[in-house]
Amino acid sequence: MKIFNTLTRRKDDFIPLEEGKVKMYVCGPTVYNFIHIGNARPMIVFDTVRRYFEYKGYDVNFVSNFTDVDDKIINKAIEEGVSAQEISQRYIAECKKDMAGMNVKPATTHPLATEEICGMIEMISDLIEKGYAYEKNGTVYFRTRRFKEYGKLSHKNLDDLRSGGRSLLVTGEDEKEDPLDFVLWKPKKEGEPAWESPWSDGRPGWHIECSVMSRKYLGEQIDIHAGGEDLVFPHHENEIAQSEAANGKEFAKYWMHNAFLNIDNHKMSKSLGNFRTVREISEQYDLQILRFFMLSAHYRSPLNFSADLMEASKNGLERIVNAVEHLKYLAGAAKTEMMTEEEKTIFAKTEEYVKAFEDAMDDDFNTADAIAAVFDLVKYTNTTAEGGRSREYLQGLAKLIVKLSDVLGLIVDRREEVLDADIEKLIEERQAARKAKDFARADAIRDELLAKGIALKDTREGVQWKKI
Ligand code: AMP
Ligand code: ZN
Repeated sequence: MKIFNTLTRRKDDFIPLEEGKVKMYVCGPTVYNFIHIGNARPMIVFDTVRRYFEYKGYDVNFVSNFTDVDDKIINKAIEEGVSAQEISQRYIAECKKDMAGMNVKPATTHPLATEEICGMIEMISDLIEKGYAYEKNGTVYFRTRRFKEYGKLSHKNLDDLRSGGRSLLVTGEDEKEDPLDFVLWKPKKEGEPAWESPWSDGRPGWHIECSVMSRKYLGEQIDIHAGGEDLVFPHHENEIAQSEAANGKEFAKYWMHNAFLNIDNHKMSKSLGNFRTVREISEQYDLQILRFFMLSAHYRSPLNFSADLMEASKNGLERIVNAVEHLKYLAGAAKTEMMTEEEKTIFAKTEEYVKAFEDAMDDDFNTADAIAAVFDLVKYTNTTAEGGRSREYLQGLAKLIVKLSDVLGLIVDRREEVLDADIEKLIEERQAARKAKDFARADAIRDELLAKGIALKDTREGVQWKKI
C-alpha cells in the first residue's frame, strides 16, 4: 500500500509502527458554525482511508479533535450574548449530525481542546525546561530556531521564512526573540475564557492542542497525521516542532493532506463567504451523493463544486443502488438455492474487479479508480445476472457490491429498516395463506421477506426467521 507523504514528497510504502495497527490523527474543525462542505472533504476522505485500513484487517485507532477554544468562537459568543462553551457544544452536536448523514464513522476518540488544558500546560513547561520555549510578559513562545528541522514538512527554508515573517514584528509581537517564534500560551483579554497557568491566566495557542491530544490518545509516535493542505504550514510544521522537541522522537511517519474543495475555482471558506454548509446541501440532496461527489476525485486534486457534478454523482450512485436492488429482487424470485458449477466459474471472475478496486486504493487511495472498478462490477453483474440464476449467486453479487461500496462509506443497500412487528405480521399472513392452501401467496410473502433480507425456516416448533 502506497501513501503520498507530504514529508518525503513521494508515495511511500505503508509500514505500520506496530503490526496490524494504525494510529491516525486528523485535525478537526473549529466549532463556531455549521461545517461547510470544504470541511467535509477531509472528513470524508480520511474516513475512507480508515475504512480501507479496516477492510485490510488493520485495527485503526482514529483520533480527531474539536477545536473548542478560539477567537472565532469567542466572537460568536459575544455576538449572541452566550458563553463560548454554549457555542462550541451546539456546533459539535450539529457537526456530529452532519457526520452521521455523510456516513462518517465517529472517531475512536474525539477530544476537546478545553478538556486537555492540563496536558498542554505540562508540555509547554517541558518545552521551557528543555530550552525550546520562553515566557515574556505572560505569553509563552516556541523558540523556532532551536528546532533544527523546522521547515521539513512544508519544505520551507528558515531564512526565506524570516524575510517573509518581518511583517510579524509590526503586529505588536515585537517581544518575540525572533519573528518565526509562535505562541504556545497567551494571557487572557477581558471577557475571554481563561485557565490558570504558571505564566498567566490565559489560554493555549492553537497548535499545542494537537501535539498534546495526539500523544495522550495515540502515543509519542503515530503512523498518520492528516488534514487539509492549508494546515501544512504553519499548523502541522509547528506541531512537528512541538512534539519532536518534547518527545525526542519522530512524531508522525506519514503526513497526508487533501486538496481544496473550490467553488468557481476559489477555495471555499468562511472568510470568503463563498461556502455552502453540509446542512444546506442535505436539504437538496441525500448526503450519500455529497460523499460520492467527494470520492469521485482523487483527494490530492482540487475539486470544484458544481450542480452538474452533483447531478452526475446522483446518477452514478443510483446506478449502483439500482443494480443492488435488482439483484435482490431477482434473488427473491430465484427458483434454485445453491450456485451451480457454471455460476461458480462466473462468480470467480468478480475477483478481477475486487483486485482492480484494491489496486486503486493501494495506490494512495485512488477512490476515483476504485469507483470505476465498482461500476465495472455493476456492468458485469447486469450482464450475468439474468436467466434463472440461483439465489446464492445473485445474493453473492449483491453482497460484493455492497461490501466494496461500504469501504468507500457509500450505502447502496436500500434495505428499509424492517421492524420485527412487520415481519411477524407477514409471517402470520403467510401461515394463513398456507392453511388456505394459497401457496402462491405464501411463496410471494416468503420472497418479499427475502428481498428485505429475512430468511424463513419452517420448523416443527413453527416458523423461525433470521436476518441475512
Ligand atoms: P477549520 O475549521 O478551518 O480549522 O478546518 C477544518 C478542516 O477542514 C481542516 O483540515 C481544513 O484544512 C479543512 N478545510 C477547510 N476548508 C477547506 C476546503 N475548502 N477544502 C478542503 N478542505 C478544507
Ligand atoms: Zn491540528
